[in-house]
Amino acid sequence: MRIIQKYGGSSVATLDLIRDVAKRAITAKNEGGEVVVVLSAMKGETDRLLTLASDMHPDPSPREMDNILATGEQVSIGLFALACQGYGEKVKSFLGFQAGIKTDDQHGRARITDLNPARLRTELAKGRIVAVAGFQGIDRHGDLTTLGRGGSDATAVALAIALKADVCEIYTDVEGIYTTDPHICEKARKMDRICYEEMLELASLGAKVMEIRSVELGMNYGVKIHVRHAHSQASGTLICQEDSDMEKTPVRGITLSVNEARVTLLKVPDQPGVAARILSLIAKAGIIVDMIIQNRSFNPGPDQNNWTDFSFTVPLTDYARTTELMDAAVREIGASEVIGDDNIAKVSLVGMGMRNHAGVASLMFQSLARENINLSMISTSEIKISCIIEKKYGELAVRALHDAFELDKQAPKTV
Ligand code: ADP
Ligand code: ASP
Ligand code: MG
Repeated sequence: MRIIQKYGGSSVATLDLIRDVAKRAITAKNEGGEVVVVLSAMKGETDRLLTLASDMHPDPSPREMDNILATGEQVSIGLFALACQGYGEKVKSFLGFQAGIKTDDQHGRARITDLNPARLRTELAKGRIVAVAGFQGIDRHGDLTTLGRGGSDATAVALAIALKADVCEIYTDVEGIYTTDPHICEKARKMDRICYEEMLELASLGAKVMEIRSVELGMNYGVKIHVRHAHSQASGTLICQEDSDMEKTPVRGITLSVNEARVTLLKVPDQPGVAARILSLIAKAGIIVDMIIQNRSFNPGPDQNNWTDFSFTVPLTDYARTTELMDAAVREIGASEVIGDDNIAKVSLVGMGMRNHAGVASLMFQSLARENINLSMISTSEIKISCIIEKKYGELAVRALHDAFELDKQAPKTV
């Protein structure tokens, strides 16, 4: 049995917790497993390093930033190895590049392009526990890279693929995947299983319990991912292929994201090519647009021209750059003004079963209306509905929707 165990920041927040994690890895090995442990930086460390860098320079260069950020995980694996040695266990720790993790050169959001775990295999064969620093790799220039926030999950799943592990265990500070963030809604219910597609959608809409690329990788290679609590023996949630035994329900989960901002161009001429021009400026800057809304006004102005307002959302981290770009281009585009709002939240319902249930959107809108929450943008796909609302109502909206769809029940509402 070959096992990958990944422990997140809160699970290695103190020396005592690292000792507990070491004991857990040793137990798994004593039960006959070959164990590879992937560690995150200690809780709060990555944020501390980010602040240090931006206090040193207002616009830190991505390459230097990665040299700084990669240290967090380095400390964790060293301490973990010492804890194992303290228990008389054979162990060796490896940085991403020593573990054979190659990435592209997109500093701060690198993708794993190749993984050659030869050294890890040798150490496992010698009966050692192997510890690998999450969230990092090396690019073709020999420079350190990091994989983006939450990236240790991707390290773990990639190692599970490369080492053909039997299971990839993701240990965290909650007991598994819940119907919504249990820290927001106390009625959130833990699921025994969830399919890759739904987990991917939840992750991309803000459920940070699993990082999105790790789910994508797991789905593409069929990795059995078990999400569970680092300091409890209870079994957690299995992320796996959809099958006929899975709970039948239109809505599987609810997410909240407060990491986006809206930009609106007012009074844009209603002509072909305008949306393309706006979005190509944004795309050229490498900014990813999520929701887009344009609704032509059917009330022509005194000059008989039609106008439209054009709104879109971008990640909060790109908000300032986006408004600068649009301010610079407003005249060329022919709009009258650019306005922005970073005081928004996106609340989303996710579920494969939504495809066959017409009433989901109307129950969602009714429930939000009952709380007097105004919807400023709506977007839908086959398996999700998202609404943009005022940020201060985000958590209230999650709880109201969780009640309305009875997600605390094993057999929730069919609509
Ligand atoms: P780690 O440090 O272990 O990587 P994260 O903080 O990245 O942990 O992810 C765990 C957190 O994800 C939980 O504490 C919880 O607040 C949040 N979360 C959001 N949505 C969900 C969900 N649907 N199920 C479980 N946890 C969720
Ligand atoms: N330490 C990194 C972060 O905080 C990576 C991770 O924890 O997965 O985002
Ligand atoms: Mg995480």
